[in-house]
Amino acid sequence: MHGDNFDPDRVDLPSGCLIGGERVPGDGTVTEVRRPSDGKLARAEAGASASLVDRAVTEARHSLKSSGWAEMEPRQRMAIMRRWADLVDAHADELAQLEATVSVRVVSSVRLRDVPMTAEMIRFYGECIDKIEGAVLATRGNRFSTLVREPYGVVAAISPWNTPMLLATLKIAPALAAGNAVVLKPSEFTPYAILRVAELGLQAGLPRGILSILPGTGAETGTALVRHPGVDYVAFTGSASTGARVMCDAATSGLKPVSLELGGKSPQLVFADAPDLDAVATLVAASVCANGGQVCFAGTRLVVEASVADQLVERIAARMDRMQAGPTWDGATTLAPIVSPAQMKRLESLLDAAEAAGARRLHGGGRIDPGLGGLFYAPTILGGMADDNPAVREELFGPVLAVQTFQDLEQGLRLADHPSYGLAGGVHTRDIAKALKAARAIQAGTVWVNHYGPNTDPNQPMGGYKQSGFGKDFGVMGLEKFLKTKNIAFQI
Ligand code: NAD
Repeated sequence: MHGDNFDPDRVDLPSGCLIGGERVPGDGTVTEVRRPSDGKLARAEAGASASLVDRAVTEARHSLKSSGWAEMEPRQRMAIMRRWADLVDAHADELAQLEATVSVRVVSSVRLRDVPMTAEMIRFYGECIDKIEGAVLATRGNRFSTLVREPYGVVAAISPWNTPMLLATLKIAPALAAGNAVVLKPSEFTPYAILRVAELGLQAGLPRGILSILPGTGAETGTALVRHPGVDYVAFTGSASTGARVMCDAATSGLKPVSLELGGKSPQLVFADAPDLDAVATLVAASVCANGGQVCFAGTRLVVEASVADQLVERIAARMDRMQAGPTWDGATTLAPIVSPAQMKRLESLLDAAEAAGARRLHGGGRIDPGLGGLFYAPTILGGMADDNPAVREELFGPVLAVQTFQDLEQGLRLADHPSYGLAGGVHTRDIAKALKAARAIQAGTVWVNHYGPNTDPNQPMGGYKQSGFGKDFGVMGLEKFLKTKNIAFQI
Protein backbone atom coordinates (compact mmCIF):
# COMPACT_ATOMS: atom_id res chain seq x y z
CA MET A 1 0.00 0.00 0.00
CA HIS A 2 1.08 3.59 -0.43
CA GLY A 3 2.24 5.34 2.72
CA ASP A 4 0.45 8.26 4.41
CA ASN A 5 2.62 10.75 2.55
CA PHE A 6 1.62 9.51 -0.88
CA ASP A 7 1.09 12.41 -3.27
CA PRO A 8 -0.78 11.50 -6.49
CA ASP A 9 0.54 14.65 -8.17
CA ARG A 10 4.06 13.25 -7.96
CA VAL A 11 3.33 10.02 -9.81
CA ASP A 12 5.34 10.05 -13.01
CA LEU A 13 2.86 8.96 -15.69
CA PRO A 14 4.54 7.52 -18.80
CA SER A 15 3.56 9.27 -22.00
CA GLY A 16 3.15 8.51 -25.68
CA CYS A 17 2.72 5.28 -27.61
CA LEU A 18 5.04 2.27 -27.70
CA ILE A 19 5.83 1.36 -31.31
CA GLY A 20 8.74 -0.72 -32.58
CA GLY A 21 10.22 -0.78 -29.09
CA GLU A 22 10.32 3.03 -28.83
CA ARG A 23 8.16 5.63 -27.13
CA VAL A 24 6.60 7.76 -29.86
CA PRO A 25 4.51 10.89 -29.14
CA GLY A 26 0.84 10.61 -30.08
CA ASP A 27 -0.35 12.80 -32.94
CA GLY A 28 -4.12 12.29 -32.86
CA THR A 29 -7.07 13.43 -30.75
CA VAL A 30 -6.20 14.83 -27.34
CA THR A 31 -7.75 13.08 -24.33
CA GLU A 32 -8.00 14.76 -20.94
CA VAL A 33 -7.35 12.10 -18.32
CA ARG A 34 -8.91 13.05 -14.98
CA ARG A 35 -8.31 11.12 -11.77
CA PRO A 36 -11.68 9.64 -10.77
CA SER A 37 -10.87 10.06 -7.05
CA ASP A 38 -10.51 13.85 -7.06
CA GLY A 39 -11.48 14.93 -10.57
CA LYS A 40 -8.09 16.58 -11.12
CA LEU A 41 -6.54 16.67 -14.56
CA ALA A 42 -3.76 14.09 -14.60
CA ARG A 43 -2.73 14.49 -18.22
CA ALA A 44 -3.97 15.92 -21.54
CA GLU A 45 -2.26 14.06 -24.34
CA ALA A 46 -2.70 13.17 -27.99
CA GLY A 47 -3.46 9.53 -28.80
CA ALA A 48 -2.39 7.55 -31.86
CA SER A 49 -3.67 8.76 -35.23
CA ALA A 50 -4.53 6.42 -38.09
CA SER A 51 -1.00 6.90 -39.44
CA LEU A 52 0.56 5.73 -36.16
CA VAL A 53 -1.81 2.75 -36.20
CA ASP A 54 -0.52 1.95 -39.67
CA ARG A 55 3.07 2.27 -38.45
CA ALA A 56 2.48 -0.08 -35.49
CA VAL A 57 0.73 -2.73 -37.63
CA THR A 58 3.49 -2.52 -40.25
CA GLU A 59 6.14 -2.88 -37.52
CA ALA A 60 4.25 -5.88 -36.11
CA ARG A 61 4.21 -7.66 -39.49
CA HIS A 62 7.86 -6.84 -40.04
CA SER A 63 8.81 -8.02 -36.55
CA LEU A 64 6.99 -11.34 -37.03
CA LYS A 65 9.16 -11.98 -40.09
CA SER A 66 12.47 -10.58 -38.91
CA SER A 67 12.40 -12.03 -35.37
CA GLY A 68 10.89 -15.36 -36.29
CA TRP A 69 8.85 -15.06 -33.05
CA ALA A 70 6.41 -17.80 -34.01
CA GLU A 71 9.14 -20.20 -35.12
CA MET A 72 11.49 -19.48 -32.23
CA GLU A 73 12.49 -22.42 -30.04
CA PRO A 74 9.59 -22.73 -27.54
CA ARG A 75 11.97 -22.82 -24.57
CA GLN A 76 13.46 -19.51 -25.69
CA ARG A 77 10.05 -17.83 -25.86
CA MET A 78 9.12 -19.37 -22.51
CA ALA A 79 12.26 -17.94 -20.93
CA ILE A 80 11.36 -14.45 -22.20
CA MET A 81 7.83 -14.70 -20.79
CA ARG A 82 9.19 -15.97 -17.47
CA ARG A 83 11.68 -13.08 -17.23
CA TRP A 84 8.86 -10.69 -18.13
CA ALA A 85 6.63 -12.01 -15.32
CA ASP A 86 9.51 -11.68 -12.84
CA LEU A 87 10.06 -8.07 -13.93
CA VAL A 88 6.36 -7.30 -13.39
CA ASP A 89 6.64 -8.67 -9.85
CA ALA A 90 9.80 -6.66 -9.27
CA HIS A 91 8.03 -3.45 -10.40
CA ALA A 92 4.92 -4.05 -8.30
CA ASP A 93 5.12 -0.72 -6.45
CA GLU A 94 5.52 1.35 -9.59
CA LEU A 95 2.74 -0.47 -11.47
CA ALA A 96 0.38 -0.24 -8.49
CA GLN A 97 0.90 3.51 -8.28
CA LEU A 98 0.28 4.00 -11.99
CA GLU A 99 -2.85 1.86 -11.93
CA ALA A 100 -4.43 3.08 -8.70
CA THR A 101 -3.82 6.79 -9.27
CA VAL A 102 -5.75 7.25 -12.51
CA SER A 103 -8.30 4.42 -12.48
CA VAL A 104 -11.15 3.20 -10.27
CA ARG A 105 -9.03 0.32 -8.96
CA VAL A 106 -8.26 0.76 -5.27
CA VAL A 107 -4.63 0.26 -4.38
CA SER A 108 -5.30 -2.69 -2.05
CA SER A 109 -6.92 -4.64 -4.92
CA VAL A 110 -4.17 -3.65 -7.33
CA ARG A 111 -1.45 -4.83 -4.93
CA LEU A 112 -3.23 -8.00 -3.85
CA ARG A 113 -4.73 -9.03 -7.17
CA ASP A 114 -3.98 -7.04 -10.30
CA VAL A 115 -0.19 -6.92 -10.18
CA PRO A 116 0.34 -10.52 -9.00
CA MET A 117 -2.30 -11.78 -11.49
CA THR A 118 -0.70 -9.80 -14.33
CA ALA A 119 2.63 -11.50 -13.58
CA GLU A 120 0.90 -14.84 -13.08
CA MET A 121 -0.97 -14.70 -16.41
CA ILE A 122 2.27 -13.90 -18.28
CA ARG A 123 3.95 -16.82 -16.49
CA PHE A 124 0.97 -19.14 -17.10
CA TYR A 125 0.83 -18.43 -20.84
CA GLY A 126 4.62 -18.67 -21.08
CA GLU A 127 4.40 -22.14 -19.58
CA CYS A 128 1.75 -23.07 -22.17
CA ILE A 129 4.07 -22.43 -25.12
CA ASP A 130 5.64 -25.90 -25.36
CA LYS A 131 2.34 -27.59 -24.58
CA ILE A 132 0.46 -26.43 -27.69
CA GLU A 133 -0.49 -29.69 -29.35
CA GLY A 134 -1.98 -30.73 -32.64
CA ALA A 135 -3.35 -34.17 -33.54
CA VAL A 136 -2.92 -36.98 -36.00
CA LEU A 137 -6.07 -38.46 -37.51
CA ALA A 138 -5.97 -41.85 -39.13
CA THR A 139 -8.17 -41.84 -42.19
CA ARG A 140 -8.01 -44.83 -44.48
CA GLY A 141 -5.33 -47.00 -46.04
CA ASN A 142 -2.34 -44.93 -46.96
CA ARG A 143 -3.87 -41.63 -45.87
CA PHE A 144 -3.61 -39.72 -42.61
CA SER A 145 -4.08 -36.15 -41.44
CA THR A 146 -2.09 -33.99 -39.06
CA LEU A 147 -3.81 -31.08 -37.40
CA VAL A 148 -1.38 -28.27 -36.64
CA ARG A 149 -2.03 -25.08 -34.70
CA GLU A 150 -0.84 -21.80 -36.20
CA PRO A 151 -0.93 -18.19 -34.98
CA TYR A 152 -3.12 -15.71 -36.86
CA GLY A 153 -0.37 -13.12 -37.33
CA VAL A 154 -1.16 -9.61 -36.09
CA VAL A 155 -3.72 -9.41 -33.28
CA ALA A 156 -5.49 -6.11 -32.57
CA ALA A 157 -6.46 -5.97 -28.89
CA ILE A 158 -8.77 -3.39 -27.35
CA SER A 159 -9.33 -3.07 -23.61
CA PRO A 160 -11.45 -1.01 -21.15
CA TRP A 161 -10.72 1.24 -18.13
CA ASN A 162 -12.25 -0.71 -15.28
CA THR A 163 -9.42 -3.19 -14.57
CA PRO A 164 -6.99 -1.80 -17.11
CA MET A 165 -3.68 -3.60 -16.64
CA LEU A 166 -4.99 -7.10 -16.00
CA LEU A 167 -7.64 -7.08 -18.74
CA ALA A 168 -5.10 -5.87 -21.31
CA THR A 169 -2.65 -8.56 -20.17
CA LEU A 170 -5.35 -11.20 -20.69
CA LYS A 171 -5.15 -10.34 -24.41
CA ILE A 172 -1.45 -9.61 -24.79
CA ALA A 173 0.05 -12.58 -22.95
CA PRO A 174 -1.87 -15.44 -24.60
CA ALA A 175 -1.75 -13.85 -28.06
CA LEU A 176 2.04 -13.52 -27.85
CA ALA A 177 2.44 -16.99 -26.36
CA ALA A 178 0.50 -18.37 -29.34
CA GLY A 179 3.11 -16.79 -31.64
CA ASN A 180 1.26 -13.65 -32.76
CA ALA A 181 2.31 -10.02 -32.73
CA VAL A 182 -0.02 -7.69 -30.78
CA VAL A 183 -1.07 -4.09 -31.20
CA LEU A 184 -3.04 -3.03 -28.11
CA LYS A 185 -5.29 -0.02 -27.83
CA PRO A 186 -5.90 0.40 -24.09
CA SER A 187 -8.64 2.72 -22.86
CA GLU A 188 -7.58 6.30 -23.52
CA PHE A 189 -8.28 6.98 -19.81
CA THR A 190 -5.96 4.32 -18.37
CA PRO A 191 -2.95 3.62 -20.62
CA TYR A 192 -0.15 4.08 -18.08
CA ALA A 193 0.46 0.83 -16.19
CA ILE A 194 0.08 -1.34 -19.31
CA LEU A 195 2.58 0.85 -21.18
CA ARG A 196 5.13 0.01 -18.48
CA VAL A 197 4.15 -3.68 -18.48
CA ALA A 198 4.85 -3.75 -22.23
CA GLU A 199 8.20 -2.03 -21.76
CA LEU A 200 9.12 -4.64 -19.16
CA GLY A 201 8.33 -7.26 -21.80
CA LEU A 202 10.82 -5.64 -24.16
CA GLN A 203 13.38 -5.52 -21.36
CA ALA A 204 12.79 -9.25 -20.87
CA GLY A 205 13.60 -9.92 -24.52
CA LEU A 206 10.39 -9.56 -26.58
CA PRO A 207 11.43 -8.66 -30.14
CA ARG A 208 10.98 -4.96 -30.95
CA GLY A 209 7.69 -4.32 -32.69
CA ILE A 210 6.10 -7.61 -31.63
CA LEU A 211 4.07 -5.67 -29.03
CA SER A 212 2.89 -2.10 -29.54
CA ILE A 213 0.70 0.02 -27.27
CA LEU A 214 -1.41 2.75 -28.84
CA PRO A 215 -3.36 4.91 -26.40
CA GLY A 216 -6.12 6.85 -28.14
CA THR A 217 -9.85 7.20 -28.48
CA GLY A 218 -12.13 4.46 -29.75
CA ALA A 219 -13.45 6.64 -32.55
CA GLU A 220 -9.99 7.39 -33.93
CA THR A 221 -7.38 4.82 -32.81
CA GLY A 222 -9.76 1.92 -32.14
CA THR A 223 -11.61 2.22 -35.43
CA ALA A 224 -8.40 2.60 -37.45
CA LEU A 225 -6.90 -0.45 -35.75
CA VAL A 226 -9.90 -2.74 -36.20
CA ARG A 227 -10.28 -1.75 -39.86
CA HIS A 228 -6.57 -1.98 -40.71
CA PRO A 229 -6.00 -4.51 -43.52
CA GLY A 230 -2.81 -5.75 -41.84
CA VAL A 231 -4.72 -6.98 -38.78
CA ASP A 232 -5.61 -10.70 -38.78
CA TYR A 233 -7.68 -11.04 -35.57
CA VAL A 234 -9.51 -8.67 -33.21
CA ALA A 235 -9.78 -9.34 -29.47
CA PHE A 236 -12.07 -6.90 -27.68
CA THR A 237 -13.15 -6.26 -24.08
CA GLY A 238 -15.71 -3.54 -23.40
CA SER A 239 -19.41 -2.77 -23.61
CA ALA A 240 -21.89 -4.73 -25.70
CA SER A 241 -22.72 -1.72 -27.88
CA THR A 242 -19.05 -1.06 -28.74
CA GLY A 243 -18.53 -4.79 -29.24
CA ALA A 244 -21.25 -4.79 -31.89
CA ARG A 245 -19.57 -1.90 -33.70
CA VAL A 246 -16.18 -3.62 -33.53
CA MET A 247 -17.68 -6.81 -34.94
CA CYS A 248 -19.24 -4.87 -37.86
CA ASP A 249 -15.96 -3.08 -38.60
CA ALA A 250 -14.01 -6.34 -38.44
CA ALA A 251 -16.52 -7.97 -40.79
CA THR A 252 -16.53 -5.20 -43.39
CA SER A 253 -12.74 -4.79 -43.43
CA GLY A 254 -11.78 -8.32 -44.45
CA LEU A 255 -13.97 -10.68 -42.41
CA LYS A 256 -11.54 -10.73 -39.50
CA PRO A 257 -12.30 -13.18 -36.73
CA VAL A 258 -13.18 -11.55 -33.41
CA SER A 259 -13.58 -12.48 -29.77
CA LEU A 260 -15.74 -10.27 -27.56
CA GLU A 261 -15.72 -10.00 -23.76
CA LEU A 262 -18.70 -7.76 -23.02
CA GLY A 263 -20.97 -6.54 -20.25
CA GLY A 264 -23.23 -8.40 -17.86
CA LYS A 265 -26.08 -8.27 -15.37
CA SER A 266 -25.29 -11.32 -13.34
CA PRO A 267 -27.59 -13.03 -10.82
CA GLN A 268 -26.84 -14.30 -7.34
CA LEU A 269 -29.44 -17.06 -6.87
CA VAL A 270 -29.80 -17.71 -3.14
CA PHE A 271 -31.89 -20.56 -1.77
CA ALA A 272 -33.14 -20.74 1.81
CA ASP A 273 -30.77 -23.67 2.41
CA ALA A 274 -27.64 -21.66 1.51
CA PRO A 275 -24.80 -22.94 3.70
CA ASP A 276 -24.08 -19.63 5.40
CA LEU A 277 -26.16 -16.49 4.89
CA ASP A 278 -23.47 -14.30 6.45
CA ALA A 279 -20.94 -15.57 3.92
CA VAL A 280 -23.45 -14.97 1.10
CA ALA A 281 -24.08 -11.42 2.36
CA THR A 282 -20.34 -10.73 2.36
CA LEU A 283 -19.93 -12.09 -1.19
CA VAL A 284 -22.90 -10.15 -2.56
CA ALA A 285 -21.91 -6.84 -0.95
CA ALA A 286 -18.31 -7.24 -2.13
CA SER A 287 -19.35 -8.15 -5.64
CA VAL A 288 -21.77 -5.22 -5.97
CA CYS A 289 -19.42 -2.61 -4.48
CA ALA A 290 -16.02 -3.65 -5.86
CA ASN A 291 -14.60 -0.98 -8.15
CA GLY A 292 -17.55 1.28 -7.22
CA GLY A 293 -19.79 -1.28 -8.93
CA GLN A 294 -17.90 -0.97 -12.22
CA VAL A 295 -17.12 -4.65 -12.79
CA CYS A 296 -18.36 -6.67 -15.78
CA PHE A 297 -19.21 -9.81 -13.75
CA ALA A 298 -20.63 -7.98 -10.69
CA GLY A 299 -23.48 -10.02 -9.18
CA THR A 300 -25.93 -7.13 -9.21
CA ARG A 301 -29.19 -9.09 -9.23
CA LEU A 302 -30.08 -10.85 -5.99
CA VAL A 303 -32.68 -13.54 -6.71
CA VAL A 304 -33.50 -14.85 -3.26
CA GLU A 305 -35.99 -17.34 -1.82
CA ALA A 306 -38.68 -15.25 -0.14
CA SER A 307 -38.39 -16.92 3.28
CA VAL A 308 -34.81 -15.63 3.80
CA ALA A 309 -35.00 -12.42 1.74
CA ASP A 310 -35.44 -9.90 4.57
CA GLN A 311 -32.67 -11.25 6.75
CA LEU A 312 -30.25 -11.54 3.82
CA VAL A 313 -30.98 -8.00 2.59
CA GLU A 314 -30.44 -6.69 6.13
CA ARG A 315 -27.05 -8.40 6.35
CA ILE A 316 -25.98 -7.15 2.92
CA ALA A 317 -27.02 -3.60 3.88
CA ALA A 318 -24.93 -3.79 7.07
CA ARG A 319 -21.90 -4.77 5.02
CA MET A 320 -22.54 -2.05 2.46
CA ASP A 321 -22.60 0.50 5.28
CA ARG A 322 -19.07 -0.51 6.18
CA MET A 323 -17.73 0.37 2.73
CA GLN A 324 -15.39 3.30 2.97
CA ALA A 325 -15.36 5.86 0.17
CA GLY A 326 -11.98 7.44 -0.40
CA PRO A 327 -9.19 7.98 -2.89
CA THR A 328 -8.15 4.90 -4.82
CA TRP A 329 -4.56 5.38 -3.66
CA ASP A 330 -5.53 5.03 0.03
CA GLY A 331 -5.09 1.51 1.40
CA ALA A 332 -8.21 1.91 3.60
CA THR A 333 -10.58 2.71 0.69
CA THR A 334 -13.10 0.01 -0.15
CA LEU A 335 -15.61 2.06 -2.18
CA ALA A 336 -14.10 3.49 -5.36
CA PRO A 337 -15.40 6.56 -7.18
CA ILE A 338 -17.60 6.50 -10.27
CA VAL A 339 -15.25 6.88 -13.21
CA SER A 340 -16.55 10.14 -14.71
CA PRO A 341 -19.35 12.72 -14.58
CA ALA A 342 -20.82 11.15 -17.75
CA GLN A 343 -21.00 7.72 -16.10
CA MET A 344 -22.55 9.25 -12.94
CA LYS A 345 -25.18 10.96 -15.09
CA ARG A 346 -25.97 7.69 -16.86
CA LEU A 347 -26.23 5.83 -13.54
CA GLU A 348 -28.54 8.43 -12.00
CA SER A 349 -30.81 8.64 -15.01
CA LEU A 350 -31.15 4.84 -15.14
CA LEU A 351 -32.00 4.84 -11.42
CA ASP A 352 -34.59 7.59 -11.96
CA ALA A 353 -36.12 5.47 -14.72
CA ALA A 354 -36.05 2.42 -12.43
CA GLU A 355 -37.88 4.27 -9.67
CA ALA A 356 -40.37 5.74 -12.13
CA ALA A 357 -41.07 2.16 -13.24
CA GLY A 358 -41.78 1.04 -9.66
CA ALA A 359 -38.43 0.24 -8.01
CA ARG A 360 -38.32 1.00 -4.27
CA ARG A 361 -35.16 2.01 -2.43
CA LEU A 362 -34.63 -0.56 0.34
CA HIS A 363 -31.29 0.82 1.40
CA GLY A 364 -28.74 3.54 0.65
CA GLY A 365 -28.72 5.54 -2.54
CA GLY A 366 -27.65 9.01 -3.60
CA ARG A 367 -24.26 10.61 -3.96
CA ILE A 368 -21.81 10.71 -1.09
CA ASP A 369 -19.14 13.34 -0.82
CA PRO A 370 -16.01 12.48 1.12
CA GLY A 371 -14.73 15.96 0.19
CA LEU A 372 -12.19 14.88 -2.41
CA GLY A 373 -13.67 16.30 -5.59
CA GLY A 374 -14.44 12.88 -7.13
CA LEU A 375 -17.93 11.42 -7.61
CA PHE A 376 -19.04 8.65 -5.24
CA TYR A 377 -22.36 6.81 -5.13
CA ALA A 378 -23.65 5.21 -1.94
CA PRO A 379 -24.21 1.44 -2.15
CA THR A 380 -27.88 0.93 -2.89
CA ILE A 381 -30.46 -1.85 -2.65
CA LEU A 382 -33.63 -1.72 -4.76
CA GLY A 383 -36.73 -3.90 -4.50
CA GLY A 384 -40.24 -4.22 -5.86
CA MET A 385 -39.26 -4.39 -9.53
CA ALA A 386 -41.02 -6.04 -12.44
CA ASP A 387 -38.86 -8.16 -14.76
CA ASP A 388 -38.49 -5.38 -17.32
CA ASN A 389 -37.41 -2.68 -14.85
CA PRO A 390 -34.14 -1.00 -15.96
CA ALA A 391 -32.56 -1.89 -12.58
CA VAL A 392 -33.10 -5.57 -13.45
CA ARG A 393 -32.27 -5.42 -17.14
CA GLU A 394 -29.53 -2.80 -17.65
CA GLU A 395 -25.86 -2.93 -16.70
CA LEU A 396 -25.87 0.13 -14.40
CA PHE A 397 -22.12 0.19 -13.61
CA GLY A 398 -22.62 1.53 -10.08
CA PRO A 399 -22.88 -0.09 -6.61
CA VAL A 400 -26.55 -1.00 -6.95
CA LEU A 401 -28.21 -4.32 -6.10
CA ALA A 402 -31.64 -5.22 -7.52
CA VAL A 403 -33.54 -7.72 -5.33
CA GLN A 404 -36.21 -10.11 -6.61
CA THR A 405 -37.75 -12.88 -4.53
CA PHE A 406 -39.04 -16.33 -5.51
CA GLN A 407 -41.27 -18.97 -3.96
CA ASP A 408 -40.15 -22.10 -5.80
CA LEU A 409 -37.26 -23.44 -7.86
CA GLU A 410 -38.86 -22.86 -11.27
CA GLN A 411 -39.61 -19.22 -10.48
CA GLY A 412 -36.07 -18.74 -9.14
CA LEU A 413 -34.54 -20.20 -12.29
CA ARG A 414 -36.73 -18.07 -14.51
CA LEU A 415 -35.78 -14.87 -12.70
CA ALA A 416 -32.08 -15.72 -12.55
CA ASP A 417 -31.61 -16.16 -16.29
CA HIS A 418 -31.24 -12.80 -18.05
CA PRO A 419 -32.83 -12.48 -21.51
CA SER A 420 -29.78 -10.95 -23.16
CA TYR A 421 -26.72 -10.97 -20.87
CA GLY A 422 -24.91 -14.15 -19.77
CA LEU A 423 -21.50 -13.38 -18.33
CA ALA A 424 -21.69 -14.98 -14.88
CA GLY A 425 -23.93 -16.11 -12.04
CA GLY A 426 -23.83 -17.39 -8.47
CA VAL A 427 -25.85 -20.20 -6.90
CA HIS A 428 -25.98 -20.62 -3.13
CA THR A 429 -27.47 -23.84 -1.72
CA ARG A 430 -26.43 -26.90 0.29
CA ASP A 431 -28.31 -29.18 -2.13
CA ILE A 432 -25.86 -30.31 -4.80
CA ALA A 433 -28.60 -31.56 -7.14
CA LYS A 434 -30.39 -28.22 -6.97
CA ALA A 435 -27.08 -26.41 -7.44
CA LEU A 436 -26.35 -28.38 -10.59
CA LYS A 437 -29.83 -27.87 -11.99
CA ALA A 438 -29.60 -24.12 -11.35
CA ALA A 439 -26.06 -23.85 -12.73
CA ARG A 440 -27.19 -25.59 -15.94
CA ALA A 441 -30.29 -23.40 -16.21
CA ILE A 442 -28.43 -20.08 -15.92
CA GLN A 443 -27.24 -19.35 -19.45
CA ALA A 444 -23.90 -17.78 -18.58
CA GLY A 445 -20.23 -18.53 -19.23
CA THR A 446 -19.33 -18.90 -15.54
CA VAL A 447 -21.53 -20.05 -12.66
CA TRP A 448 -19.97 -20.03 -9.20
CA VAL A 449 -21.57 -22.40 -6.68
CA ASN A 450 -21.35 -21.25 -3.04
CA HIS A 451 -18.82 -18.58 -3.90
CA TYR A 452 -18.50 -15.75 -6.38
CA GLY A 453 -15.60 -14.29 -8.47
CA PRO A 454 -13.20 -12.77 -9.19
CA ASN A 455 -11.05 -15.36 -10.92
CA THR A 456 -8.00 -15.98 -8.80
CA ASP A 457 -6.77 -19.02 -10.69
CA PRO A 458 -5.12 -18.47 -14.07
CA ASN A 459 -6.57 -21.70 -15.46
CA GLN A 460 -10.29 -20.84 -15.01
CA PRO A 461 -11.74 -19.74 -18.36
CA MET A 462 -14.12 -16.81 -18.31
CA GLY A 463 -16.30 -15.43 -21.07
CA GLY A 464 -19.86 -14.70 -22.01
CA TYR A 465 -22.97 -16.31 -23.39
CA LYS A 466 -25.55 -14.31 -25.36
CA GLN A 467 -24.77 -10.58 -25.59
CA SER A 468 -22.00 -10.89 -23.02
CA GLY A 469 -19.84 -12.03 -25.92
CA PHE A 470 -17.96 -15.09 -27.08
CA GLY A 471 -14.44 -16.44 -26.74
CA LYS A 472 -12.75 -17.02 -23.39
CA ASP A 473 -10.16 -15.12 -21.40
CA PHE A 474 -7.99 -16.91 -18.80
CA GLY A 475 -6.95 -20.54 -18.98
CA VAL A 476 -5.80 -22.61 -21.94
CA MET A 477 -8.93 -21.57 -23.84
CA GLY A 478 -7.74 -17.97 -23.57
CA LEU A 479 -4.70 -19.01 -25.64
CA GLU A 480 -6.44 -21.38 -28.04
CA LYS A 481 -8.59 -18.61 -29.47
CA PHE A 482 -5.42 -17.02 -30.85
CA LEU A 483 -4.57 -20.15 -32.86
CA LYS A 484 -5.93 -21.42 -36.17
CA THR A 485 -6.06 -25.12 -36.98
CA LYS A 486 -4.67 -26.44 -40.25
CA ASN A 487 -5.37 -29.94 -41.51
CA ILE A 488 -2.39 -31.30 -43.45
CA ALA A 489 -3.72 -34.42 -45.18
CA PHE A 490 -1.11 -36.94 -46.40
CA GLN A 491 -1.28 -39.71 -48.91
CA ILE A 492 1.83 -41.91 -48.79
P1 NAD B 1 -16.31 0.73 -24.05
O1 NAD B 1 -16.99 -0.26 -24.89
O2 NAD B 1 -16.78 2.13 -24.03
O3 NAD B 1 -14.75 0.83 -24.45
C1 NAD B 1 -13.90 -0.30 -24.48
C2 NAD B 1 -12.72 0.00 -25.36
O4 NAD B 1 -13.18 0.12 -26.70
C3 NAD B 1 -11.99 1.30 -25.04
O5 NAD B 1 -10.60 1.12 -25.23
C4 NAD B 1 -12.55 2.25 -26.09
O6 NAD B 1 -11.70 3.34 -26.36
C5 NAD B 1 -12.67 1.33 -27.27
N1 NAD B 1 -13.61 1.75 -28.32
C6 NAD B 1 -14.68 2.55 -28.20
N2 NAD B 1 -15.29 2.68 -29.40
C7 NAD B 1 -14.59 1.94 -30.29
C8 NAD B 1 -14.72 1.66 -31.68
N3 NAD B 1 -15.70 2.17 -32.41
N4 NAD B 1 -13.82 0.84 -32.26
C9 NAD B 1 -12.82 0.28 -31.54
N5 NAD B 1 -12.63 0.52 -30.22
C10 NAD B 1 -13.51 1.33 -29.61
O7 NAD B 1 -16.25 0.11 -22.58
P2 NAD B 1 -15.68 0.77 -21.27
O8 NAD B 1 -16.63 1.83 -20.83
O9 NAD B 1 -14.25 1.11 -21.47
O10 NAD B 1 -15.74 -0.49 -20.27
C11 NAD B 1 -16.87 -0.86 -19.60
C12 NAD B 1 -17.60 -1.99 -20.31
O11 NAD B 1 -16.70 -3.08 -20.51
C13 NAD B 1 -18.74 -2.55 -19.50
O12 NAD B 1 -19.82 -2.85 -20.33
C14 NAD B 1 -18.15 -3.82 -18.91
O13 NAD B 1 -19.10 -4.78 -18.53
C15 NAD B 1 -17.29 -4.28 -20.03
N6 NAD B 1 -16.26 -5.19 -19.54
C16 NAD B 1 -16.33 -6.53 -19.88
C17 NAD B 1 -15.38 -7.42 -19.37
C18 NAD B 1 -15.42 -8.90 -19.68
O14 NAD B 1 -14.43 -9.59 -19.45
N7 NAD B 1 -16.52 -9.43 -20.17
C19 NAD B 1 -14.37 -6.94 -18.55
C20 NAD B 1 -14.35 -5.59 -18.22
C21 NAD B 1 -15.29 -4.73 -18.75
